[in-house]
Amino acid sequence: MSDYTLKKDIYYLHEKLVHLNEQRTMLMFSIVHGKPMIHGMPHEVFRKCGKKNCKCYEGPLHGPYPALSVSQRGTKKIIMIKKDDAPTAIIKSKRYRHYQQTLAKIRKINKEIDSLLEGLKASTIIPYP
Ligand SMILES: [Zn+2]
Repeated sequence: MSDYTLKKDIYYLHEKLVHLNEQRTMLMFSIVHGKPMIHGMPHEVFRKCGKKNCKCYEGPLHGPYPALSVSQRGTKKIIMIKKDDAPTAIIKSKRYRHYQQTLAKIRKINKEIDSLLEGLKASTIIPYP
């Protein structure tokens, strides 16, 4: 690699790392707030009531009822939210969803930064002796 090409590559790498780092910082501070969360994704449940003369027997189901979708050891569980808890429980589970989604984005950026730095290492390392 010529000195010029390397300098140009370093310049772009530098720009890219600055951008990724800014993105990561922004994402991190959007989840570092300490507000309570509920372990579960917001979910809506529709149901049949079981009465044969009800519209839900063949038509549209009752609902939506607020619920949580909770993943534990590979299985998904649906937990119904009590009516009185609904407004705050939904906010807390949305916070959890945002946390999980943001964490996934941060991890993706971390991998990208790692890969860029490994690439730089591979292209600048010289044999010795
Ligand atoms: Zn019904």
